[in-house]
Amino acid sequence: MDVVRIFDTTLRDGEQSPGFSMNTAEKIRVAHQLAALNVDVIEAGFPISSRGDLEAVRQVAKEVRTVPIAALARARKDDVMAAVEALEPAAASRLHIFLATSDLHLKVKLNMTREQALESISSMIRLGRQHVGEVEFSAEDAGRTDIDYLCTVCRVAVEAGATVLNLPDTVGYAVPEEYAEMFRRVDASLVATFGANHGITLSAHCHDDLGLAVANSLAAIRAGVRQIECTINGIGERAGNASLEEVVVALAVRKESFNVSTNINLEQLFPASRLLSEVTGAQVAPNKAIVGANAFAHEAGIHQDGIIKNPLTYEIMSPQMVGVPERSMVLGKHSGRNALRLSLRDLGYEPTDVELGEVYKRVTALADEAKQVRPRDVVAIAHEVLRRRSTLAAEATSAA
Ligand SMILES: [Zn+2]
Repeated sequence: MDVVRIFDTTLRDGEQSPGFSMNTAEKIRVAHQLAALNVDVIEAGFPISSRGDLEAVRQVAKEVRTVPIAALARARKDDVMAAVEALEPAAASRLHIFLATSDLHLKVKLNMTREQALESISSMIRLGRQHVGEVEFSAEDAGRTDIDYLCTVCRVAVEAGATVLNLPDTVGYAVPEEYAEMFRRVDASLVATFGANHGITLSAHCHDDLGLAVANSLAAIRAGVRQIECTINGIGERAGNASLEEVVVALAVRKESFNVSTNINLEQLFPASRLLSEVTGAQVAPNKAIVGANAFAHEAGIHQDGIIKNPLTYEIMSPQMVGVPERSMVLGKHSGRNALRLSLRDLGYEPTDVELGEVYKRVTALADEAKQVRPRDVVAIAHEVLRRRSTLAAEATSAA
């Protein structure tokens, strides 16, 4: 089974977005968790952007020895040499060079012709290869680049020594079918030039402006892409990048459909999400897939009843699989008696049907007022209703 490599850019694309900046110590903390997650590459920063960022990449490279460290550079000599300097202490490193290739970016942003861009791409990749063993090239705004020119760009990058070609949907404009089609066209052109065993890894990098970053990444995998660039909690420029946890869990849950695997330790996903929130102070939305507070919460009574009988009724994956400590059964006004009985059992109570009815009445009355009933509220109500029995339970517990 093919392995899809996970290139994490939480510390670069993620970190450069407003509200998510991290100092060196924070970057190192997150990088250690990314290593525990077993990502395949950690992009640690953009060294030319500031001396502080260059130092942060150096420190991450010194501290985290088990995962290759990548640094970003524009196709300019100063950029490349700053990245080379930052990567110097790394056990394994990757230089990530990018240049925009769409006519719009070339004309308006870079004031370059297509030919000049090809020349820069070729010379800067060759320069990088003199210092770093592995070079990845990104054709910025690939999604809006003329496809024939994009194929030429990719051929030139490979001839200069790049072994990973990243074709980002920089502006989050693509839809899955057309993004996949771009990779099929580029791969066909690589096969025509370098043969079927060209050994080049194609990579996707998607933004979520239309909410399609994960869908586009998965479509790219179906088109032969074997590296996905993504971030914890989907942080990143504007609406963010493809969410790492959503991509890898989709591949795991729908393994029979994709027929690929990743090297990710799934049970480290939830801890990684919480660590990033703690470090940046930015909480994920409660309804965020995989790592949101409600991702495994079941409130509707019918759902709760089903889950208790068999989790497969309403859960396509277990919370334990992604490292959520326990299923959070929220007791609200839509909860049923069966869920309440289970919660009481977890708290050490075995009510009779009459007692359960009484607790249920009070819990739902409270839920009407408070929307959500916390475990300690249930404890308080159960204590009142089952006063004699709670005393017995406490005695039994202390005896045990
Ligand atoms: Zn990006």
